[in-house]
Amino acid sequence: MGHLIDGKKWAAVSRATTAEEVQRLHAEGVRPMLVVVLVGEDPASQVYVRGKEKAAVAAGIVSRVVRFPASVDASTLLAHIEHLNRDDDVHGILVQLPLPAHIDEQTVIATMAPDKDVDGFHMENVGKLSIGASGFVPCTPLGVMQLLKYENIEVAGKHALVIGRSNIVGKPMAQLLLQANATVTVCHSRTQRLSELTRQADILVVAIGRSNLVTGDMVKPGAIVIDVGMNRVDGKLTGDVDFASVEPVAGAITPVPKGVGPMTIAMLLHNTVRAAKMRQKLITGVQ
Ligand code: NAD
Repeated sequence: MGHLIDGKKWAAVSRATTAEEVQRLHAEGVRPMLVVVLVGEDPASQVYVRGKEKAAVAAGIVSRVVRFPASVDASTLLAHIEHLNRDDDVHGILVQLPLPAHIDEQTVIATMAPDKDVDGFHMENVGKLSIGASGFVPCTPLGVMQLLKYENIEVAGKHALVIGRSNIVGKPMAQLLLQANATVTVCHSRTQRLSELTRQADILVVAIGRSNLVTGDMVKPGAIVIDVGMNRVDGKLTGDVDFASVEPVAGAITPVPKGVGPMTIAMLLHNTVRAAKMRQKLITGVQ
């Protein structure tokens, strides 16, 4: 039976560390602030934003949500992001995706100041990640790496396989595993003989968005299985991994919910505090 990786527990540990850092910043007169920009009424986005807001406030981070109707024109949205870029009280900006179809996501992301891009989606941060320079790393893959660290799971030299190649999860996940000296394979919707490959993985990270796609017969005995998927099936949250058949085979496994999801939010708070600290250093010159 696989060891259950308790994302909720580890997220609480991470958030407590962040809250302590926030207190230290408060003592120095810095109040870390996160602004979430929410466009439209997408129910899932509303839920995510509420969760982020609640967690930020609990950690002592000032949280503001700026709401626009789905009909907002791109120029209004971009002008507001530029305004947030210039506002010295704002440390982190997050634009909740997806955006309505008439707004180009890449243009919006490119408008954000890279040093406030706590989601790590700006191309400057993407570039930094790919050359191993210090920048903001997307919260979900960063959360996966932090989970592996908390669980003392050795990554160096292991065969890590990522299913999914999105800019938000799959690609940055592969970059981080590579940086941690894993041998990395990336699979996607056009991969042939997927299960032959997955059966070779010591660490399997699944970020597809298809309920229960990875089954026990696709997993090497003893492998570490990280399920990033979040799918709504009949009103219930399910992962991309069929927990019932994979858990008996895996060495360790994250559940859905209470696996990767809570770590994503914890890393958003971590990145926001990091942004505040970076600004503080810039202003005071203190290292
Ligand atoms: P996406 O749709 O952008 O990308 C999905 C990827 O899966 C693509 O690269 C595609 O090539 C690959 N894929 C699709 N079908 C496949 C198949 N049959 N076999 C192999 N590969 C296949 O999705 P995303 O934004 O990367 O998100 C992936 C999942 O992770 C979703 O369920 C999403 O809800 C979830 N997610 C969770 C969190 C979290 O905090 N836990 C954060 C972000 C995304």
